[in-house]
Amino acid sequence: MLAGVIARVLIDGPSELVFDYAVPPGLDVRPGCRVRVPLRRKTASGTVLACVDAAQADFALRAIESLADPEPLITPVLLETGRWMAGYYGCGIETVVRSLLPEAVRTEDHSAKSRRVAVLTDTPAPDVLERLRKRAPRQHAILTLLMNAADRRLAVSDLGDGSAAALKAVAKLSLVRIEQEDVRRDPDSDGSAEVLESTPLALTPAQQAALEVILAQSREATPRPVLLLGVTGSGKTEVYLQAARQVIDQGKTVLVLVPEISLTPQTVQRFKARFAAMQDQVAVLHSHLSQGERFDEWHRIRKGGARIVIGARSAVFAPLPSLGLILVDEEHENSYKQETVPRYHGRDVAVLRASFEKCAIVLGSATPSLESWHNAQSGKYLLARLDERADGRAMPMVRVTDMRMEARKHKGGPAVLSDKLRTALEQRLERGEQSILFLNRRGFARSLQCPSCGHVCQCPHCSVALTYHRTDERLVCHVCGHQAVVPRRCPECRDPSILLQGYGTQKVEEILGKVLPQARVARIDADAMRRKHALRDALNAFQANKIDILVGTQMIAKGLHFPNVTLVGILHADLGLHVPDFRAGERTFQLITQVAGRAGRGDLSGEVIVQTFTPHSPSIQYARRHDFDGFAAQEMEFRRQFHFPPYGHCAVLTARSAHERRAEFTLSTLRLRIAEQLPADVLLGEVLPSPLVKAHGQFRFQITLRAASARPLTRHVQAVLAKTPLPEDVTVVFDMDALNFT
Ligand code: ADP
Ligand code: ZN
Repeated sequence: MLAGVIARVLIDGPSELVFDYAVPPGLDVRPGCRVRVPLRRKTASGTVLACVDAAQADFALRAIESLADPEPLITPVLLETGRWMAGYYGCGIETVVRSLLPEAVRTEDHSAKSRRVAVLTDTPAPDVLERLRKRAPRQHAILTLLMNAADRRLAVSDLGDGSAAALKAVAKLSLVRIEQEDVRRDPDSDGSAEVLESTPLALTPAQQAALEVILAQSREATPRPVLLLGVTGSGKTEVYLQAARQVIDQGKTVLVLVPEISLTPQTVQRFKARFAAMQDQVAVLHSHLSQGERFDEWHRIRKGGARIVIGARSAVFAPLPSLGLILVDEEHENSYKQETVPRYHGRDVAVLRASFEKCAIVLGSATPSLESWHNAQSGKYLLARLDERADGRAMPMVRVTDMRMEARKHKGGPAVLSDKLRTALEQRLERGEQSILFLNRRGFARSLQCPSCGHVCQCPHCSVALTYHRTDERLVCHVCGHQAVVPRRCPECRDPSILLQGYGTQKVEEILGKVLPQARVARIDADAMRRKHALRDALNAFQANKIDILVGTQMIAKGLHFPNVTLVGILHADLGLHVPDFRAGERTFQLITQVAGRAGRGDLSGEVIVQTFTPHSPSIQYARRHDFDGFAAQEMEFRRQFHFPPYGHCAVLTARSAHERRAEFTLSTLRLRIAEQLPADVLLGEVLPSPLVKAHGQFRFQITLRAASARPLTRHVQAVLAKTPLPEDVTVVFDMDALNFT
């Protein structure tokens, strides 16, 4: 072959094959294009990763057969984002492309559906109609149907069976035209109610200032990200909505990221309501879209048919043209981090994409991650603050109850509800107000422990205690889902008095039934919400005041707004505090602040009761005072001293195997190699058993690595991994900016 262009093509399919092909003259092949190529004796489809000019090639390359789509499906910016991800997180560009192009789009069998429609092209004269009514009633019926139809068009299939001849006849009269029309598989078509348009609110001065900061950035050539720190109920959403409106009015598009679509129904609803007039241009990317719906939505977005896209983490790759603004709501949420390869952080990728797109980006939270806070402090991000609630109401009063004292009052185990909380619940019931009880643990009781020998029922595949579930009398592993029957006697010493230790949401629900039998109680956790729409129904019932007390796990911690809730109880607030993770304090602070923020969001003031065994912990004390700055200052000091993020990056290298020794040995070998020529600023930890030593039948060992900058660390570890052969039964995982250390 002579000089020409060579395309590097990633072949579809699980085996991650990348081959070079010659680009035939006249074919407009660009990076991001979908192509058909010869592979062995067949034709395969693939994605062009790169195009290079080749002065000469010394062997004949096979040529690309054709373009599957005339335009590149991956925009240059997204391809650039993908390249950055591959280098930063240390994963192949192949796995990244799989994220950029959802499977529904890569495989061609979900392609657009079309149907035949009849369109009325001219209004029939009255005498023509009259004639047809008498002589050709079928043709007359078709014409009247079309005259009354929206846009004067109807699917041929809607005209009734046996109308083919009549249709032909009216087409001959030049009154009707038949055409092909693409059918969108509309994910919202399942009878969702008509949305009423909401009108913009007059902004408070603080909101106005925040909006101006955002809009000013959207006009910059290289906008800086804006961290919007606004206390719960400060009206961040209203700021998002008005910023989005302005950007849309400038002819650009908006991407909205939320932690989880199913857990943030109110936020999604507020966007739908505000943009009700252009509702067909708002795309909500649910995880339960069918492949066909996903295909249609993706192409609709790419063609500019959706001006606002709302979705969780993976929506960061939505192929919106002329993107003007990205909004990341609850930017501190862990669910933005993907826990499978590529292990990217949706918020961080969003910031990067925004910088490539040169568009504005807002990270909003009442409890920003310390990473984002650090960036705002250093001037990398701009900071906009909303320190007061939008409606001028006070932040809820937070009281801390020392459960060690309660335990002394009640003999026979610690109480679940303190006296203070029970009294407060009774008052709310009397006044017809609502309460939320929050406990970050589902199930009935945590574990089954024998009082005589101390034996705890454990999962045989994972190193965790099984959780007792009352409703169906079984033990469940919350890691792998393993189930077991509840033993009548201790499996170890045969003692029949095996005890229930700790408690979960089911137990709370049961206790409420006893102490407040008149209360209408609903429980929201992963067990109770298995049924489709169960969450939506429960929240609607709560909204309609058909429920007095909502008991739930972190599923109810996010973004919910119920004006009649005046009491929030947080049971066992220090549950997440004593885990081996340097972010434990930060998470506890965030959780308490967020849950407390559900109280007093209407005309009535709110009260929060925090039950804890460690009342003096800074996480609890700063949350009690709604003092993010105070918490951040002391927590940052600790992070700085111990070189933890946001001062540098922390990665985890994990080895897993069914053979304990092999997992440990493999990781020790890798550690020795990593230690050679270690980049200067990297802190290399020891090989340690993971806090969760065994999960899914696999033993786990880990090393933490800390470094001032991420890329050199990733590059070094990847280089070692690439040249170290691993035993077949050992899996090694590298997680840059890890959030999960279990
Ligand atoms: P956040 O998202 O910060 O938690 P929300 O956007 O949910 O806060 O706002 C809390 C409440 O305040 C909502 O009921 C909202 O309608 C109301 N609100 C927001 N902005 C204003 C405003 N400028 N004037 C009056 N009420 C407002
Ligand atoms: Zn298990």
